Amino acid sequence: MTPTFRVGLRALLSGDLLKDKVAIVTGAGRGIGEGIARKLAQDGAIVICADVNETDATAVASSLRPAGIGVRLDVSNASECDAVVKDAHDRYGRLDILVNNAGINRDAMLHKMSDDQWHQVIAVDLTGVFFMTRAASRIMRTAGSGRIVNISSASWMGNIGQANYAAAKAGVVGLSRTAAKELARSQVTVNALCPGFIDTTMTRGIPDAIREQQLAKIPLGRAGQPADVAAVVAFLASDEAGYITGEVINVGGGYIL
Ligand code: NAD
Repeated sequence: MTPTFRVGLRALLSGDLLKDKVAIVTGAGRGIGEGIARKLAQDGAIVICADVNETDATAVASSLRPAGIGVRLDVSNASECDAVVKDAHDRYGRLDILVNNAGINRDAMLHKMSDDQWHQVIAVDLTGVFFMTRAASRIMRTAGSGRIVNISSASWMGNIGQANYAAAKAGVVGLSRTAAKELARSQVTVNALCPGFIDTTMTRGIPDAIREQQLAKIPLGRAGQPADVAAVVAFLASDEAGYITGEVINVGGGYIL
């Protein structure tokens, strides 16, 4: 065994993979974001749980070990994004990991989609990722290290009733790949994850017939759980993943096969 491999294996086994890393997870109040916050903390990171629902963010943060910090953040507001990133950096003197997970959907067929439905989804799911990535990149460039993981969606390839959501999530792919190119010289990696059908509040609202159709498309035969996504995020956020950047990774049980 090479020394690097041995150290990596030890960290994996001991839950120390992210020891002392400082992470911000947006939309951490429930669902996939909560799962990511739990996994990063379990692997040793100090996690700032940021969510537009402050009560949820604080509840999740205080239940983590090591305990995290819950903050209110609307990712569609640039100055709030700047402030959360600055506060994290001021408090801990570092920011190692940013997970852009916050997202909403406002589904409608294109011909019935309102201006508001369009603008709301673009504001949170795409512009929010830009605001947070811009703020974090300023710190990570100077530090010469960092990990950014953006939660896109399998829907980025196109999905009926989701013109707004698919456009935003495709935008996240383009933004992630561009950021990966720009930040590579600073040893900051940026990757996009595309979950398929994950069992959360977002998918529980889907009518039963459509839900069954979606589940039938999954070769592994089950809906994903937040932990399925969180495991990949934790790896990409670790030092072990330092040579992976600009990737678009499906986490969908074979959904897109
Ligand atoms: P969810 O609705 O269960 O949770 C979303 C969280 O984001 C909530 O806690 C919510 O309060 C928060 N949030 C919403 N708007 C916000 C804002 N403006 N600022 C900060 N926080 C805000 O959804 P989920 O299923 O956990 O989805 C998480 C991410 O994964 C989203 O980006 C979603 O698009 C993506 N995704 C989900 C699935 C799925 O099947 N559930 C599939 C692909 C991608």
